[in-house]
Amino acid sequence: MAKQIPAVVNLAFPNGRKLDVPTGLFIDNKFVPSVEGATIDSINPVTEELLATVSSATEQDIDIAVASSRNAFKNRMGSQLPTCATLADLLERDAEAFAGLEALDNGKSAQVAREVDLPDSIACIRYYAGWADKIFGQTIEVDDKGLKSASTRVEPFGVCAQIIPWNYNIMMLAWKIGPALAAGCTVILKPSELTPLPALKFSELVAEAGFPPGVFNCVPSYGPIGGAALASHLNVDKVAFTGSTLTGRKIMQAAALSNLKKVTLELGGKSPHIIFESANLKDAATHVTGGIFLNQGQDCSAGSRLYVQASVYDAFLKELKASAEEWTAGYGDNFKEGALGGPLVSKAQRDKVVNYVEGAKEAGASILYGGTKWEGKGWYYLPTIIGDVTPDMKVVKEEVRLIIILFIHHRYSDDLRSSFVGVKIFGPVLVVSKFNTEEEVIELANNTTYGLGAGFHSSDANQCQRVQASLEAGTVWVNQYGLLYNQSPFGGYKQSGIGRELGSYAIDNYTQIKTVLWDYSGGSSQ
Ligand code: ADP
Repeated sequence: MAKQIPAVVNLAFPNGRKLDVPTGLFIDNKFVPSVEGATIDSINPVTEELLATVSSATEQDIDIAVASSRNAFKNRMGSQLPTCATLADLLERDAEAFAGLEALDNGKSAQVAREVDLPDSIACIRYYAGWADKIFGQTIEVDDKGLKSASTRVEPFGVCAQIIPWNYNIMMLAWKIGPALAAGCTVILKPSELTPLPALKFSELVAEAGFPPGVFNCVPSYGPIGGAALASHLNVDKVAFTGSTLTGRKIMQAAALSNLKKVTLELGGKSPHIIFESANLKDAATHVTGGIFLNQGQDCSAGSRLYVQASVYDAFLKELKASAEEWTAGYGDNFKEGALGGPLVSKAQRDKVVNYVEGAKEAGASILYGGTKWEGKGWYYLPTIIGDVTPDMKVVKEEVRLIIILFIHHRYSDDLRSSFVGVKIFGPVLVVSKFNTEEEVIELANNTTYGLGAGFHSSDANQCQRVQASLEAGTVWVNQYGLLYNQSPFGGYKQSGIGRELGSYAIDNYTQIKTVLWDYSGGSSQ
């Protein structure tokens, strides 16, 4: 049943600050309701209360957005350099409001959003603004008389659908639109149905920055409706996606079955984090907890499998528990100064975590830390450490044993795991195992269908060289975890994705090469 909704919702932050957020689909630089009147209710994960109702794109709206984007691409005026730089400036001007909006809609710590999400996103858009006039081809000599040559032009793909998740709204948006706009593409961004508000607010800045209508359209929608319509649309040239492996597969299939649009995917991971005996244990413990508990583990490169060398296992676990304690700071109030942790993004997400850990408990796993919901309002789960679970442990039920094995080693695809447990964990849960030798842990770490990130700590320089080269992951962190830079690429090996985001590599995701063959011989040369 179509619902009439106000064009703007006035949100109140816990500190009393107010913010107007548009609720319409952003098409041709205007906010418009969905043709069929479809809507999305966005819930605040801290209060469990309705935050806002916004328009939701259905197939008809997607067609309108795609036509607008195609038109803007046909009439493009060249480099987006000045407007992209302005966009970064405007986001910087409004950073505090955007950090608050991320916190309201996603539930994350407002301080983390202010100190991490926003500065990184602003820097990312600014970084790619600098790329806009530095994308060029080559001249290639093809004969030794200089009468013939080849040149390459680096041209934009065209109309790009960009489907982003809910865990880092503005940052994922920046990673996607930065290189796409710099390359001269036009963009249809689909934020997650769980957190549509930050991208809608951002759309206002696009109009203010002076982009021509249609260069950036924003269409909040449910994944299987608007997302699927974009992925299978015959007039979309490229789809870029960040999210789960399961959805990534669907998007690739939709692209293959429609117009073979180009696809880049940044998918899930079950990233290993390794502590060798020579590591600085205290320091490493903060990297391990940060690597899994930041954003409540709702991070595709979260280091969820921890391997600790047996000789330092007990000492490291002590440091680890002390460090885990810090991550409940701010439970109940994600706007409090010093808050680190927050709730899971939705009740469904929190319940998945509950199911997973309860399954592990039933199977006899030892809970070293946390292991329960947080008592209080909001979809919180305590930072959790599950210790020393092995595939040959005594288990209650065969199915649960399989869950545990899959959970620890992640040898199987999402589909197979889902068929056992119906869930994919994406929460503040760390599983710890002991190892004895370097060879053994490399084998364990790589024994997965994923390959997004991996980290290890060691003060042995030779070991560092050997191990970084042996890990099968798109990003390897040495004596640190999780830090990313706009100028260095990020993406997955194996089933963690296709293509690289960030750095110069992301430009390749939005450009294609045209080869032009020249003949200056006036017909004298065949
Ligand atoms: P999660 O399960 O963590 O929410 P998803 O991969 O389902 O992650 O969601 C990430 C993004 O993908 C969201 O914007 C969501 O709406 C979108 N999405 C979900 N299903 C589909 C689909 N079938 N086709 C296209 N996009 C989808």
